[in-house]
Amino acid sequence: MSPQPRFFDRKHTDDLAAFVEASPTAYHAVRSVAERLEKAGFRQVAETDAWDGESGGSYVLRGGAVVAWYVPRGARPETPFRIVGAHTDSPNLRVKPRPDMGSAGWRQVAVEIYGGPLLNSWLDRDLGLAGRLTLRDGSTRLIATERPLLRVPQLAIHLDRQVNEGLTLDKQRHLQPVWGLGDAADGDLIGYLAEEAGLDPEDVVGWDLMTHDMQPPAYLGRDKDLLAAPRLDNLLSVHAGTAALAAAAHPDLPYIPVLAAFDHEENGSESDTGAQGPLLGNVLTRSVHARGGSYEDSRRALAATVCVSSDSGHAVHPNYAERHDPTHHPRANGGPILKTNVNQRYATDGTGRGLFAAACDRVGVPFQHFVSSNAMPCGTTIGPITSARHGITTVDVGVPILSMHSARELCGADDPHLLASALKSFLEQ
Ligand code: ZN
Repeated sequence: MSPQPRFFDRKHTDDLAAFVEASPTAYHAVRSVAERLEKAGFRQVAETDAWDGESGGSYVLRGGAVVAWYVPRGARPETPFRIVGAHTDSPNLRVKPRPDMGSAGWRQVAVEIYGGPLLNSWLDRDLGLAGRLTLRDGSTRLIATERPLLRVPQLAIHLDRQVNEGLTLDKQRHLQPVWGLGDAADGDLIGYLAEEAGLDPEDVVGWDLMTHDMQPPAYLGRDKDLLAAPRLDNLLSVHAGTAALAAAAHPDLPYIPVLAAFDHEENGSESDTGAQGPLLGNVLTRSVHARGGSYEDSRRALAATVCVSSDSGHAVHPNYAERHDPTHHPRANGGPILKTNVNQRYATDGTGRGLFAAACDRVGVPFQHFVSSNAMPCGTTIGPITSARHGITTVDVGVPILSMHSARELCGADDPHLLASALKSFLEQ
C-alpha cells in the first residue's frame, strides 16, 4: 500500500465545514455559493433580463439551483465550456402541507421522506428546521431555526427487545418528530416559525421546510484526518466546484468555466431546478447568443464542451469490505475517485478518464477508481443525465465517503481540497 498523501491544507476543509453549517437546505446552499462568487467578482443576472455578452463572472439562481460562468476576454461565440456539475440537495424529512399533529399529549410535526435517507440515522438527533417561506406578495424568505426544535425519539429497548436483531421503521408511523407538549392546533408550526422570522403569520402562504441535524461538523480521528458532517453528499462537491470556479476565473482562459449545481438529484432530477430541467442548457445557449452567436455557434460550442460531474462515492468500509469490488477499494484521503459503470449509471468513458487523469496530473493530485461490485446495483448521479440531455462528454468523479445518506456522513479531511485542486485544473486546462 502506498503512503497516503498528507496535504494538510485544512483552510479549504475549514471553509467546507462553515459552508455546510450555513447550508441546511439547497436554498441556503445556493446562497452560500453566491456569497463566495460575489467575493470573487461574479454578479447575479436574472433569467427574466436581457443578457449582455460582456466578459467576467455571472450567475443565475433558481430555487435550490445555481449556474455560474466566467467569460474570458477573448471568448468567441463558439468557445466551448468546461463544466463542473454537482447537486445541492440531500435526503431528509420534509414538512407536510398540514404539519400540526399530535398524539398522547405530544405535539408533533407531520413529515414526508425526501430521497433515500438512512432512516435510523435521523433517530434521537437534535433537529432544526430550515427552508423558505413564501409570502403573500410572492417573495420568499429563507429561514433556519437557531436551536434544536425537533426529535424523532426511538422506542426504548425495553419496549422492543428484538430491536438489535434488526430495526424496522414504519415510514408513516415511526418518523414523526416531537416538538413539545400540548394539543396540536392548525397553524401552530408555521405561526411559530413566522414569528421567529419577524413575519406576520397571516402573510405566509406557502413553505418548503425540512429537518437538519444541528450538530456542527467536526474533525475526527487520532490525527484529525477525518471530517464528520451532514450533507457531505453533495455539498462537498458544490463547495469544491465553487472554490475551483472562483480560483480558475481568469481573463486569458481558453474555455468558459461553468459551475452547475442542481436540486432534486436525490429523487431523479426531474424538476425545473433539477439536472433533467432546461436550466443548464438555457444558460449555455443564452451565453452564446449574448456574445452574438447563432444556433450553429451554440451547437459547435456544446460539441466541444466537457463536464466533470462530481458527487459522493463509497470509500471502502472496514466492517463490510466484501460489499465492494475486491480490486477497487477507494480510501479516504487517497484523492478523488473516477467512477465508471459500463451500463452508463456513470457517464465516464476512456476519453473522460484521460481528461480527468490529465487534470489531476497537472497539479499532482492522486486519483482512485471506483466501480461497483457486480453483485451490487450501482448508484447513479447527474452525470449521465447531463451527458444525455445536452450531448456533452461527461466524466463522473467524486470524493469517497462512509455512511452515504446518513444524517451525518464521514470523509477524509484532505480529500475536499484534493478534489477542488483537480476541478480547478480541469476548468483551466
Ligand atoms: Zn449525491
